[in-house]
Amino acid sequence: MNRLKKGLILFCLLGLLASFAGCSQNEVKTTEPLGKVWFNWFDTVSYVYSYAGDPAERFDQLSAGISGIMTEYHQMFDIYHEYSGINNLCTVNRLAGGDPVKVDPRLIDFLLYARDLYEKTGGEMNILLGPVLKIWHDHRSAATDDPSAASLPAQEALLEAAKHTDFSLLEINRQQSTVRLLDPEAAIDVGALGKGYATEMAAKWLEDQGARSYVLNIGGNIRIIGTKPDGSGWKTAVKDPDDPENSYSAILDIADTACVTSGDYERFFVVEGKRYHHIIDRDTLWPAEQFASVTIITPDSGLADALSTALFCMSYEDGLALAKSFGNVDVVWVEHDGTVRSTDGLADHLVN
Ligand code: ADP
Ligand code: MG
Repeated sequence: MNRLKKGLILFCLLGLLASFAGCSQNEVKTTEPLGKVWFNWFDTVSYVYSYAGDPAERFDQLSAGISGIMTEYHQMFDIYHEYSGINNLCTVNRLAGGDPVKVDPRLIDFLLYARDLYEKTGGEMNILLGPVLKIWHDHRSAATDDPSAASLPAQEALLEAAKHTDFSLLEINRQQSTVRLLDPEAAIDVGALGKGYATEMAAKWLEDQGARSYVLNIGGNIRIIGTKPDGSGWKTAVKDPDDPENSYSAILDIADTACVTSGDYERFFVVEGKRYHHIIDRDTLWPAEQFASVTIITPDSGLADALSTALFCMSYEDGLALAKSFGNVDVVWVEHDGTVRSTDGLADHLVN
């Protein structure tokens, strides 16, 4: 359940805003939201809220649509299980080194997008890092099962795995709707991007249905559609990495955008008192140590997810330059000593 400990929660949704921001008297009263919760996508908990004042039937219909979309993407992106009737990423990994695998065209679109982001992030966000990530995943799982036996990966094993992570090992054929891993040792892991991308697909569908004033919270990945009916935004907290359940590093007031955090406190294991988390620097092959958390605010939830992972592995200067190169991307960096830095575009959105 570590994935529940995401970097962001909508304090207003949880009724905590008043105590944190002390502004309940000034809040314009809006219609009580309708909400639904799911536990079956991307190994995390997901909420959908409508502040639109919709009749319950419309909310039920729209949330059923979201559920269908999220379930389909969850199944396509799953690298641990296969499902009858579809070839998913687990199938692609299992058949690595073999023949091309026929997949859903939506999976082709996603993989092309992942390749584009691999190039644009200079390789920092690489879904082909699978063999390296698997080693870390196995050590984390073993440590979770038996903390007293927690151990670190061998450097030779990491270096060997890294030989099978070049993006060119993934052959994508849009015409045939097939994909193939050219190296039997290669493997895809979309943990850095899949959840945000699926959320964006659900959000786009909602927008096409004319929905406004909706909030999707998919394991802490926030995607907001529109504003509240009164035109205001939502107060969203960036958790304090040192005390994520009780404290925050910043509060943002945002609308019509996505907000995604990568943090070193989300999934980790401990060896000899040191924490080893789940975001791996492709240069060192070890957990990135530059920041305690990085939060991205940008309209596209898939981009926000990818950049949160990429910037977590980059220096402040390089990350800032990358964010600027995309345009309309804002960032909150939280350093290990608690220092908070943010991009200029957030000046009007930082509440504290
Ligand atoms: P979360 O999954 O907690 O939302 P992230 O979006 O930062 O956090 O994604 C972390 C996941 O992405 C890891 O669990 C792993 O599956 C994968 N990952 C870790 N490091 C990288 C990397 N450098 N490039 C691509 N994927 C990565
Ligand atoms: Mg990410």
